[in-house]
Amino acid sequence: MIKTYKYRLYPNYKQRLVMQKTLDICRELFNLCLEQRKMQHIHEFEQSRQLTQLKKIFPEYTQVCDGVLRVVLSQLEHAFQSFFRRVKRGQKSGYPRFKSENRFSSFCFPTHLDKGGSFRLSGEYLQLTKIGNVKVRLHRKIPNDARFICCTVLKKNGNWYACFDIECATTTYLKSDLQVGIDVGIINFITFSDRSISIPNPRFYENSQKQRAKLQRKVARKVKGSNRRKKAKLFVSKFEEHIANKRRDFLHKLSQTLVNKYGIIVVEDLNVAGMIRSNLAKYISDCSWSSFFGMLDYKAEWAGNRQIQRVPARYTSQKCSECGFISAENRKTQSEFKCLSCEFCCDADLNASKNILSAWIELSSVNVTGSDVCVA
Ligand SMILES: [Zn+2]
Repeated sequence: MIKTYKYRLYPNYKQRLVMQKTLDICRELFNLCLEQRKMQHIHEFEQSRQLTQLKKIFPEYTQVCDGVLRVVLSQLEHAFQSFFRRVKRGQKSGYPRFKSENRFSSFCFPTHLDKGGSFRLSGEYLQLTKIGNVKVRLHRKIPNDARFICCTVLKKNGNWYACFDIECATTTYLKSDLQVGIDVGIINFITFSDRSISIPNPRFYENSQKQRAKLQRKVARKVKGSNRRKKAKLFVSKFEEHIANKRRDFLHKLSQTLVNKYGIIVVEDLNVAGMIRSNLAKYISDCSWSSFFGMLDYKAEWAGNRQIQRVPARYTSQKCSECGFISAENRKTQSEFKCLSCEFCCDADLNASKNILSAWIELSSVNVTGSDVCVA
């Protein structure tokens, strides 16, 4: 299993300059090779061979580790391959573009030092060829049996990060027979069918609106193209990054807790892209259900003995979980459910989550018997 571990880097002044220089040279090489490809029929292999001559003409290329430069050529090759693939399939195809400063933010060390490569993590320092020993904050332990594949150095909002692709063994989870249906919503982020507490929606976007507007006003007041405006803009993107980090942290922790506890998790098969077109768009995208379901999916896959099941979202909010009576009138308000047939009263989200679980139980029993007829 391949995972990526990301850590913040703390380069000193000199290292920061070298890293920025490396980034610029890589971007230059990318654009140069793209131009060459536009003019003549040439492949990655040939371009890679010409790298030696290029270094003689432009000595600044010798300041960057060779492996890093070759990765740039592979990235370009990859961009062309995906372009040709899209053309072949008749999809919307964008020709590889020249990269501006804003569109090129990382470079990659392809092999570990132990294998004749160019990076090694030793203690609190990351050893990078032609850059030096950069201080790294290991906020999270790398598994002992991990095998390093590559290291990508990334710049975002003025900060530097290292992303390690590592191969490690799967962690075995204790077997769990617990099944749960979960209903996602805007008021309560999720509600469990087993009546364990519902998680309120943290509303990261909404709650940060005031501060965001204040920062954006600051940008608007500055002269276009000025350094002050640039600085104010950086503050806005740092702020957005912070909110995104908070949201991601919440989703990761919640999805991990669910996967730890339950053996089978049943969710609605929501058309989130379609819902975003509604008038609740802002609130729906703030919830990031798609990312949440995505996290559940891959975490369950890592665990091996966990399942995420999807059921159609039809009538889950209108159906009575006790007697099965379906009516739009059942749901008097957003939060209250009262069945018109059997007078069963319940929290609307809880009722929906129960329906989601029972829908799956119904579906799976059909699949087990192999026919539409359920043996009673
Ligand atoms: Zn009922």
